[in-house]
Amino acid sequence: MHLARFPRRRYTPSWTPLEPMPNLSRELGGPELWVKRDDVLGLASGGNKTRKLEFLVADALEQGADTLVTVGAVQSNHCRLTLAAARREGLGCQLVLEERVPGSYREDASGNNFLFRLMGAERLEVVESGTDLTTTMERLASDLSAQGRRAYVIPGGGSNALGALGYVACAEELLAQTFEMGLPFDHLVTASGSGGTHAGLVAGFHGLSAGVPITGVSVRAPSTAQEERLHTLAQATAELAGVHTPVPRDAVRVIDDQVGGGYSIPTDAMIEAVGLFARCEGILLDPVYTGKAAAGLISLVRQGRFAANERVVFLHTGGSPALYAYQDVLLGDSSA
Ligand SMILES: *Cc1c(COP(=O)(O)O)cnc(C)c1O
Repeated sequence: MHLARFPRRRYTPSWTPLEPMPNLSRELGGPELWVKRDDVLGLASGGNKTRKLEFLVADALEQGADTLVTVGAVQSNHCRLTLAAARREGLGCQLVLEERVPGSYREDASGNNFLFRLMGAERLEVVESGTDLTTTMERLASDLSAQGRRAYVIPGGGSNALGALGYVACAEELLAQTFEMGLPFDHLVTASGSGGTHAGLVAGFHGLSAGVPITGVSVRAPSTAQEERLHTLAQATAELAGVHTPVPRDAVRVIDDQVGGGYSIPTDAMIEAVGLFARCEGILLDPVYTGKAAAGLISLVRQGRFAANERVVFLHTGGSPALYAYQDVLLGDSSA
């Protein structure tokens, strides 16, 4: 792998911190828990999409695009960060928002939705769940080209092989960092949504022969479907990165017991996890992704899946702006 060969914009000046979580480890009576703080990546309020956008936006600029077009849910962190990257680069930005939960879009909603308006998205097209999102984005792109502009269309979550290179880079960073710190680790747990994060890490660990299992906690899809899709993406990402051995199917492991009622629907375990991270470590998770991923981590610890002397890294993929749109749910009955 030789990632310096790819055009890249740089939105974070250095490695994100890797921090111990001694209070949470003690509270759970489990293994040694650490957190990789990708919630403090660059661009507005950070989070995992920043790493993918470094490669995607560089490609857009190479291709002479003047406008970024992308898609996400109504509280999409990916849309917020794409918009922030567009602003940074002096590009236009148009967003398609998918109402995955019917009736969930509110123009005056807080959280990321407020930030779409604050950073001035040029166009917000709200569509029902089940709408063909690729076709919708292509329509926006052709409207732009009719105006003499040039769109660059980024898939949902920035999760194509090029975007996933951001997480191949993160795999390299994490291994270099743990080497630097003299801190070998035994397991990594992360949220698994559109999949570029999880697939990029799988491709990176495979390419580097890291020998560290990764558990992805699904926030939407059933585990088998998610594993199949991610294996294809991890394979494509590995090939793009220049890895010539196939990614083993069993390198892609997804658990789906935290999805609850569906994407973005709160669960008791998510509420508990958000509260535990906040109170034990002063770390802000989010209700849609990292809250459920942390609930998955906590449940694995409680099931005794890790030995007491193992070191487990939780990848914090960001998302805290969405907390402010879920205040009632999060303070409901667990605030005492
Ligand atoms: C998008 C997102 C994820 C999921 O990452 P994917 O690469 O889409 O699987 C996790 N956490 C947060 C905060 C996100 O915004």
